Amino acid sequence: MHHSAKIKAVQHKGGRCLLCGYNRCLRALHFHHINAFEKSFNISSKNSWTKIEQELDKCVLLCSNCHNEIESGIIDLGIFELLKD
Ligand SMILES: [Zn+2]
Repeated sequence: MHHSAKIKAVQHKGGRCLLCGYNRCLRALHFHHINAFEKSFNISSKNSWTKIEQELDKCVLLCSNCHNEIESGIIDLGIFELLKD
């Protein structure tokens, strides 16, 4: 992803890890699809911002630690149901 597009995308998602609040390193922040069956997510600089925004709405912003914990099953994804407003 183009660097400036990622900054914009990260800011759109609150600028920090949803779970622990980490925000120190942009490269350590990842987008994680809430619905694992919808793996169409592929942000590239070719996409329009509108399209990126639509994809971002299906994702949460996580730091690499929290992302790895979710991928390893240590954190239950059900937590996101609680976090929805
Ligand atoms: Zn985190």
